[in-house]
Amino acid sequence: MTLAIAIHGGAGTLTRSDMTPEKEAAYRAALGAALDAGHGVLLRGGSALDAVTAAVTSMEDDILFNAGRGSAFALDGTITMDASVMEGHTREAGSVTGVTAARNPVLLARCVMEKTPLVMLGFKGADQLALDRGLECRPPEYFFTQRRWDAMQEEKARVEAGIPDAGVGEDRKHGTVGAVALDARGHLAAATSTGGRTAKWAGRIGDSPVIGAGTWADGTCAVSCTGDGECFIRIAAAHDVAARMAYLGETAEQASGQVIHGALAGLGSTGGMIVVDGAGNVAMPFHCEGMYRGMVDGRGRRQIAIYEQD
Ligand code: ASP
Repeated sequence: MTLAIAIHGGAGTLTRSDMTPEKEAAYRAALGAALDAGHGVLLRGGSALDAVTAAVTSMEDDILFNAGRGSAFALDGTITMDASVMEGHTREAGSVTGVTAARNPVLLARCVMEKTPLVMLGFKGADQLALDRGLECRPPEYFFTQRRWDAMQEEKARVEAGIPDAGVGEDRKHGTVGAVALDARGHLAAATSTGGRTAKWAGRIGDSPVIGAGTWADGTCAVSCTGDGECFIRIAAAHDVAARMAYLGETAEQASGQVIHGALAGLGSTGGMIVVDGAGNVAMPFHCEGMYRGMVDGRGRRQIAIYEQD
């Protein structure tokens, strides 16, 4: 019986110079809690779908991550969240975009997948589904964090002053959470959730709710991405990993490395992804300073890491 799970808390990490031992310990503890939540589901014989939703809800509830409670603000001062989920063996998928009230947008995406004939639902319609289906909803104050508000104000000022974003720390720009898992039945699933880019345009939709771009699962692998959403969409990043593995016979490591260090970097963009295949191999490449991440692979190796050399 091979079980595996990988999680990410976003490619937008604090720079090493901004990271204190206390902050690092807090991130590692939060990643460990999310990993254990998902891995625990697998150890109890639960499905990959339940495992990825357990891991992602854990991070959505933690203000350290840009998803759910700790979501980034858009330019107009609102918070709108995106999430998606996909199950490999059934090819069932669900996603939501522009939602404002669900405590756990990933559960709303799962609700779209399981309770509606749709794959993607956005804005008012998605908020209404959360109410109709009795999902836990929260008022705007629940999602307010001073740190994200300040980041939005600073981003806004930078853009208005026409200052290029070259020196801006990745954590200022983005962040996302995600999980991929392989369960005891050999089934794969992936889930992703985000508040989107800091100071994004109102109505902007990134890759996280786009099946094939930010999230993918089939019989070959499960993938969840984080980074410059527009570029992940333009290279169909998550699906491309599965296609390279299926058509070129590449390993998860090779395929994801090509997509991140080849296609994504080739567009001058940054980000990363997590991948698990049907044998429990895990790959977690990123092209930026760090990516909050963790995994327990098919051989039982456990890792929590932030930067390259961790
Ligand atoms: N991919 C997310 C988006 O574009 C943000 C991120 O992962 O940093 O909305």
